[in-house]
Amino acid sequence: MTDFVLAIDQGTTSSRSILFDHDARPAAQAQLEVPSRFPTLGHVEQDPNTLWATSLDSARSALEMAGCSSSAVAAIGLTNQRETTILWDRKSGVPVAPAVVWQSRITAPECDKLKRAGYEPLVRERTGLVLDPYFSATKIAWLLDREPGLRGRAERGEVLFGTVDSFLLWRLTGGKLHATDVTNASRTLLWNLHRGDWDEELLNVFRVPRGMLPTVFPSSGIIGQTDPKWFGREIPIAGVAGDQQAATFGQQCLTPGMVKNTYGTGCFAVMNTGDQPVSSANGLLTTTAWKIGDKTQFALEGAIFMAGAVVQWLRDSLRVIGSAADSEVLASRVSDNGGVYLVPAFVGLGAPHWDPRARGAIFGLTRGATVEHLCRAALESIALQSRDVLDAMATDAGLAIPALRVDGGATANNLLMQMQADVLGIPVHRPRVLETTALGAAFLAGLAVGFWKDVRDLERTWQLDRVFEPSLSSDQREDWYAHWKRAVARSRDWVPA
Ligand code: ADP
Repeated sequence: MTDFVLAIDQGTTSSRSILFDHDARPAAQAQLEVPSRFPTLGHVEQDPNTLWATSLDSARSALEMAGCSSSAVAAIGLTNQRETTILWDRKSGVPVAPAVVWQSRITAPECDKLKRAGYEPLVRERTGLVLDPYFSATKIAWLLDREPGLRGRAERGEVLFGTVDSFLLWRLTGGKLHATDVTNASRTLLWNLHRGDWDEELLNVFRVPRGMLPTVFPSSGIIGQTDPKWFGREIPIAGVAGDQQAATFGQQCLTPGMVKNTYGTGCFAVMNTGDQPVSSANGLLTTTAWKIGDKTQFALEGAIFMAGAVVQWLRDSLRVIGSAADSEVLASRVSDNGGVYLVPAFVGLGAPHWDPRARGAIFGLTRGATVEHLCRAALESIALQSRDVLDAMATDAGLAIPALRVDGGATANNLLMQMQADVLGIPVHRPRVLETTALGAAFLAGLAVGFWKDVRDLERTWQLDRVFEPSLSSDQREDWYAHWKRAVARSRDWVPA
């Protein structure tokens, strides 16, 4: 009997690997930072070889730390930063250029051009996404057009495209497998969400040759074996999913209406919408949640740009707190926000507002306002923005949200979690294991190889750390939220067009 499933989580700031045991407890964990480069304004690159090397090294270190050999590993689950685009040579496996990271805005002019040509509705309808540089398609074309001859090589099938999972799969299998999973495919702008296949018309619109695309697999199931040279033997690779989808699975949001919210630098909320894609009338993205066997589940997703980052701003720019945890200490010294509202539109507003010209603002200042009120307003802004997104989800999906499952660094803040329960009027559930992204990848892989029998078996591993129950009357709650909405409205449309 094997002891562990190995999750490899290749993220934007680090690659980490975690060994999970049968009770879904992390037994060993290793993490290595990965640098980004910013060659021109708005452009972000990473070295694909570093993404690979840190992934492999962290996996080997985790095994070493657990003091076990690879024969104790039942399967590998892979999860990754999404949308980041890598092209490599089919023969040599060598990347032809640095990876274009999801954050890169380098293809904004191309997106504007396609929007002016009227392609936005087609893209939205087919992919569930918006025509934005964030996604992979325009990044692929940008890379192909930059180096003479590259497009021709891609058309002859000599150059391959992959998101980060795809490149790691290629390397892990010693170049045997050019593959991805449905969740990663659904972030490229080339994937037809309804048909579950690459879309020829979109390939034409974005000028991407069909031959360079990977084969698309379900998120759970053995898709290949590692080359024995990496871990001394073959290990089945049995689960692959993009980070937010993996976290949603790790949180076991397995039925329609279940929502998780991750509180990191930004916030990522994802709602399970069941076996049908739900198109959004409120600025959310529609995406594949996962595919297990022949069953696909879909999700609505909303991103908030500034969440934990507001706390970093208090610490590093205003210098009114010494550590992120101090935000809770200071905010707890006052019983309410004293009428102060902070709208953290520092880089514009994401879902559901999508206003790139909004800017940060503080409203309601009086002579009585203190740093404590400001800290309170900053934490409240994270909870209130999350309500904006969750309200949009409930409306789009026509589903009531019974409770919210949370993870990410800022969930350590108990006051913030209480605020979240209060402004939503539903309980907030914080699990013990907060590494839900890696855990989700492990679950997907473990299910495929029988390490966990079924979803019921996963439920057995679920352990709650704490529930935050709402404590406000609905009048108090809606009055508070109405003030927030007025503040948001006044922060919008600030930068001249
Ligand atoms: P990421 O994965 O985006 O790097 P993490 O999940 O590691 O983010 O969370 C880090 C973020 O959480 C930082 O922005 C930090 O300011 C915030 N944070 C960490 N601890 C607290 C806390 N106790 N209260 C409020 N915010 C916190």
